[in-house]
Amino acid sequence: MATFSRQPRRAAGQHYDLIIIGGGIYGIALALEASQRGLRNVLLEQKDFGWATSYNHLRTVHGGLRYLQNLDLHRFFESVRERQWFLRHFSGLVSPLPCLMPLYGQGVYRPSVFRAALGLNDLLSWRRNHRVPAGQELPTGKVLDPAAVVGLFPGVDQEGLLGGALWYDAAVPSSQLLVMAMLHQACAAGTTALNYLRAEQVLLEDGQVRGLLCQDEENGEQLTFHGTCLVNAAGPWCRELAATFAADDPDLFRYSLAWNVLFDKPALSAHSLALRPKRPGSPMYFVHGFNGQIMGGTVHSPWPANTTPEPDEEALTAYLADLNLTVPGLHLERKDVLHVYAGLLPAREQGSAKLAVREVIKDHGEQGGPQGAYTVSGVKFTTARLVAEKTLQKIFPTRSVLVQTGAVAAGGSDLFSAATGQFPGEWHPDMAEPTWQENLQAIIAQQAVVHLDDLILRRTTFGDHPRKALQLAPLLAQLFPWDEQRRQEEIERVQACFPWCRS
Ligand SMILES: Cc1cc2nc3c(=O)[nH]c(=O)nc-3n(C[C@H](O)[C@H](O)[C@H](O)COP(=O)(O)OP(=O)(O)OC[C@H]3O[C@@H](n4cnc5c(N)ncnc54)[C@H](O)[C@@H]3O)c2cc1C
Repeated sequence: MATFSRQPRRAAGQHYDLIIIGGGIYGIALALEASQRGLRNVLLEQKDFGWATSYNHLRTVHGGLRYLQNLDLHRFFESVRERQWFLRHFSGLVSPLPCLMPLYGQGVYRPSVFRAALGLNDLLSWRRNHRVPAGQELPTGKVLDPAAVVGLFPGVDQEGLLGGALWYDAAVPSSQLLVMAMLHQACAAGTTALNYLRAEQVLLEDGQVRGLLCQDEENGEQLTFHGTCLVNAAGPWCRELAATFAADDPDLFRYSLAWNVLFDKPALSAHSLALRPKRPGSPMYFVHGFNGQIMGGTVHSPWPANTTPEPDEEALTAYLADLNLTVPGLHLERKDVLHVYAGLLPAREQGSAKLAVREVIKDHGEQGGPQGAYTVSGVKFTTARLVAEKTLQKIFPTRSVLVQTGAVAAGGSDLFSAATGQFPGEWHPDMAEPTWQENLQAIIAQQAVVHLDDLILRRTTFGDHPRKALQLAPLLAQLFPWDEQRRQEEIERVQACFPWCRS
């Protein structure tokens, strides 16, 4: 199995074709695409890989049905293609997601409109299953009668129910493992990836990028990485970071807040439900089943700058009221909240909740900033790979893909075994059978695990079950060669990751 180990001193001082700042999905996709083009690249992440926005998304790989509503065909085709890419290359981690929207006949939410829309969706995405492994294909959509909707979603509000729209998207339930699988592939093809390395200062000479000064967040050491080309893929931090080496540019990121909630309540359906509360002007929410429980989202709102990016109690209460209004008998309460997954996303305008429509790929050199410095920011997990491809075409127009990395199938591959990190909610440690400890110790040794929360939240699925994760933390801390004080500190770090879960 390919591994990546954290050796900052060894990696520093060397020359790279490309320095990538940010270890979210956008930075990792860039590393993967760069290494496939034979570019010597280093990826630097200030905390752990995939800990930020990329951890908090709703785990849907969108095909773009929603973009048909305003006939944004460009975005529709891009999304369909990227969904196909994920299904094809990561079939063990990305799977078909049946979606169901109960229809009550208001506005466009009529069976006749959806019959036409789903037909168009299938027609325009006719290549959606091209080279997708057997069993992973997305069937065509259809409109169901009310009885069929009740069969799939017994809790549905039946008053005025005219039918339901059924279509297929893709889900990535263990998205943290997908992020790691992509990172593994990048490293196997040549990327050097370092977590807990914070980019501090872009080094310039005569207006040209010459390197990057970083701080090792584990020991405070300053390290320099040399290279004449750098991409700032720091997600919500990209604008702030870009302002340290070029003029502030609001177009890079206007901040809005987005969040999902995991509830300690049984899932409502095996389908992802698209639900609109019956009140004027209400948004559409997607309510998934997540490990047998309800994961509801996504709520979008303006972000009051410089506040913690998470909902306040008032917003959370309003959301619970909306879901209770939509599903009779649901009775969600504040005590049912297990976890809130929140992050900042680029908005069209500052102070708005409307998401930006397209990615930004900025060549700072073209606009009076340093030559060789680029910033990217994107809106969706789904299209991160495509944005990486576009970015590299802009920077290295003559470099094409030399190495195609292998696919990660259900049982894993020689590059990455998705199965080793999967621990279902009902899992219990068998103290007489050491295999699980050996597996976890291998992950710790081979996947740059620095802290206990790296292991629990981002190398395994323990963190998807917050109560269980908190219970297991002391036992899992024993797998590391730490003294008692460090173990306690690490357990407290894990507790801090789950502030909503009152165990
Ligand atoms: C609630 C919610 C639901 C969503 N649902 C979906 C969905 O269902 N489907 C979908 O396609 N998309 C969804 N998204 C959008 C998707 O999650 C984001 O578009 C994507 O994760 C952004 O990735 P990123 O790499 O740009 O940012 P991030 O994941 O935030 O990564 C940026 C990284 O840069 C690092 N960094 C910052 N500064 C520095 C520095 N100085 N040095 C080194 N590293 C630095 C940060 O530590 C961070 O890890 C959702 C988002 C949210 C918040």
